[in-house]
Amino acid sequence: MNRTLIFNPEGERSASNRRIIKGNSTNIMELNNIKYPWAFDLYKTMGFTNFWIPEEIPMQEDRKQYEKELSPYEKRAYELVLSFLIALDSFQVVNLKEFARYITAPELQMAITAQEFQEALHSYSYQFILESVVDPIKADEIYNYWRQDEVLMERNRVIADLYNEFIRKPTEENFIKAVFGNYVLESLYFYSGFAFFYTLGRQGKMRNTVQQIKYINRDELTHVTLFRNIILTLKEENPELFSPEMEKWVYEFFKYAVDAEIKWGQYVTQNQILGINNTLIDRYIKYLANLRLTQLGYKPLYPNITENPMKWIDQFRTINDTKTDFFQAKPQTYAKRSELRW
Ligand code: ZN
Ligand code: ZN
Repeated sequence: MNRTLIFNPEGERSASNRRIIKGNSTNIMELNNIKYPWAFDLYKTMGFTNFWIPEEIPMQEDRKQYEKELSPYEKRAYELVLSFLIALDSFQVVNLKEFARYITAPELQMAITAQEFQEALHSYSYQFILESVVDPIKADEIYNYWRQDEVLMERNRVIADLYNEFIRKPTEENFIKAVFGNYVLESLYFYSGFAFFYTLGRQGKMRNTVQQIKYINRDELTHVTLFRNIILTLKEENPELFSPEMEKWVYEFFKYAVDAEIKWGQYVTQNQILGINNTLIDRYIKYLANLRLTQLGYKPLYPNITENPMKWIDQFRTINDTKTDFFQAKPQTYAKRSELRW
C-alpha cells in the first residue's frame, strides 16, 4: 500500500468520492462536506463528550483494601489483569498511527487521532492506579510481568505479531488483517479483565479502580463502534479485499481469539475468585464473540450461546456519577443517550 501524502494538491475536493483507503484526497481537513458522519460524530464523542481525567477519581480507599482485604488470588489477578491491559493500550497507541498512514479521508484521520489520545489516557490511568494503590517496587514489577510470565509474554507476542506483520509488509491483505486484529482487541481482549474488576466492584472491593475501568470501558466501546463502521465501509468500498479466503481467516481468527481470551481469563482468576468462575468466563467471552461477529454481518461461532451469562455487567458498568460534568449538563445527557447505542 502507498502511504498517504501530507498534502496532495492534485487530490479531489469532492467529499462524495472520498474513500477510507486508496482514495485521492487533498488531505486538507475540509469538514464542510463530510462523507462519513459517523467518524466525525465519534471524533466529537471521544474528544469532548466522553473526556475524563484519571486524577479526578480519588484512589485512597483502594490502597487500604488492596493491603488489608484482598485475598492472595484477588491480588494476583488484579496485578496480572493490569499488566495485560497496559500492554493492550500500549499496542494501540503505536498501532493507530500506522493505520492513519494509509487513511485517505480527513474525518477518519480525526477519529483515529481522538482514539489514539484516549489509548494514551488509558496508559496514564494504569500508571495512576498503580502509583495510588501499590508501592513503587510492586508497580515496577507489574510493568515488567510480561518478561517473567510466559503466558502473558506469549499472549502479548501473538497480538503484536499481527500488527508487526503489517508494519513489515504493508500489503492490503495485512492491512485488513490488522484492522480485524484491532476490532478483536477492542471488543474481546479487554473483557475477561473488565469482568474480573466488575466482579470485585460488585462486592464493594476496589471501587476506585473499578471507576477508572468503567471510563476506559466506555471509551473502548466507542472504539469498537469506530472499527465496526470502518470494516463495514471497507467491505462496501473494497469488496475485492474480502475474498472467501479472508472470510475464512476471519472465523479462524475469532476462534483463536476466543480460546486465547478464555485461557487468559481462567489463568488469571485460577477459578478462585468469588463471583466469577471458569464456566462463566468461557460463556461470557463466547457470547461477546457471537455479538461482535453478528454486528459485522457474520454468523455466530457459538450458536448455542445466546444469552449473556453476566448480564449484570451491562448495568454495572454504566457511569452514573457526576464526573463527566466538565462541560455542564448537556454533554452528560448526550453521553448517556449515546451510550445506549453500543
Ligand atoms: Zn484503551
Ligand atoms: Zn481502544
